[in-house]
Amino acid sequence: MQRRLFGTNGIRGIVNETLTPQFALKIAEAIGTFFNEGEILLGYDGRTSSPALASAVTSGLTATGCTVYLAGMAPTPALQYAVKKHGLDGGVIITASHNPPEYNGIKVLGADGVEISRRQEIEIEEIYFEERQRRAEWNRIGEIKSLHGIIDEYIEAIKTHIDIEAIKSKGFRVVVDPGNGVGALAAPQLLRELGCKVFTINANIDGTFPSRPSEPKPENLGDLAAAVKAVKADFGVAYDGDADRAIFVDEIGIIHWGDRTFALIEREFLKEHPGEVIVTPVSSSSLVKEIAEAYNGRVIWTKVGSVDVSHKMKEIGAKLGGEENGGVFYGPHQPVRDGAMTTALILNILAKTGRKLSELLNELPTYFIEKDKVECRDEIKGKVMESLYKELERENLKFDTIDGAKIWFEDSSILVRPSGTEPIFRLYAEAKTKERTIELIRKYKEKLGEIIGKIA
Ligand code: MG
Repeated sequence: MQRRLFGTNGIRGIVNETLTPQFALKIAEAIGTFFNEGEILLGYDGRTSSPALASAVTSGLTATGCTVYLAGMAPTPALQYAVKKHGLDGGVIITASHNPPEYNGIKVLGADGVEISRRQEIEIEEIYFEERQRRAEWNRIGEIKSLHGIIDEYIEAIKTHIDIEAIKSKGFRVVVDPGNGVGALAAPQLLRELGCKVFTINANIDGTFPSRPSEPKPENLGDLAAAVKAVKADFGVAYDGDADRAIFVDEIGIIHWGDRTFALIEREFLKEHPGEVIVTPVSSSSLVKEIAEAYNGRVIWTKVGSVDVSHKMKEIGAKLGGEENGGVFYGPHQPVRDGAMTTALILNILAKTGRKLSELLNELPTYFIEKDKVECRDEIKGKVMESLYKELERENLKFDTIDGAKIWFEDSSILVRPSGTEPIFRLYAEAKTKERTIELIRKYKEKLGEIIGKIA
């Protein structure tokens, strides 16, 4: 098997170490060859290295005869929407999402704005490793054009999916924390156009991420929670570096992880669209399943990764997907994670129900989560999983093998999953009591340890 360049979300690396302009140019030639003289949108996030890498990618793409449409700095979902809206053949985004500032990355989109499939990623890798880049004749070099106004178009598109008048009538107060990322370019404007009083923190775009780490984890959002309380806002919202994920703070100043806001969106969606399918990775909370069962929906589980969720949604025409990390996919807009669209959905729910965010979130069932890991050499992970599957069958347990083993019990579940990047197995247990999660972790750590001991 050849070495993989694409990870869970595109190609990532440390700038000028594993991700150099030379590499960007060469992989761009492979991407351009894959798109076969097509029309490609190119945009980037606010990282210090993004414009330089975008220049290298522009050279590589045009060298193979592709026309490049420069869209500039923008949130990832705005760039994804622009590819579809302008009927282009694909797109490339320079972004490392929520990674630390020294990282950057290259994401490749298909004609519908969704990241290309795993199979297509491998096609590009093969062109790269086999040096099958097709450089164009001098008179067939691609043109470089500009595409202006994509953020305004994106904001207008989001507004078509919500009740603008109902939201405007409430005059919501909202604090936005883009974490010095490109979320600053869309969400504040969208909210103002929806009649909200908008307060911002960390809204100057700065690729060094001086205010907080780019990942909107609860431990990074203390300032946002304080700001929400200080200005008596209806809620606060934080985005990751490229603004495809959104994490919310309620009006009391409590930070809620993405599984709960997604479950709220899911519940309100199913009330209006009973019978619909909800797409989510096996690492998601059982809350998603419990809400689906209570409100007449059906859950389709996927492998862990937003690309898997997007492609499953496309395949079956699902309208809603979500991840526990704050990624919500609203199909009628686009089947990709979208921070501004997620914010608009929450506003819509607050306007329609006339209730406070804390009330709505606190009435959802509560699950306790416990995580752990077990070390294991990469070479034997496959054998360990096989052996675990056999054991689970022998014990007559109910389990899914979509990504690792998700084992279902009456009151709880545990996911045992080989890490794709580290020599470990990850364990995620979930139950209605803390004691049960601890018991599950203990039991399966021991079981994995025994299996690994026998094989190693
Ligand atoms: Mg992101």
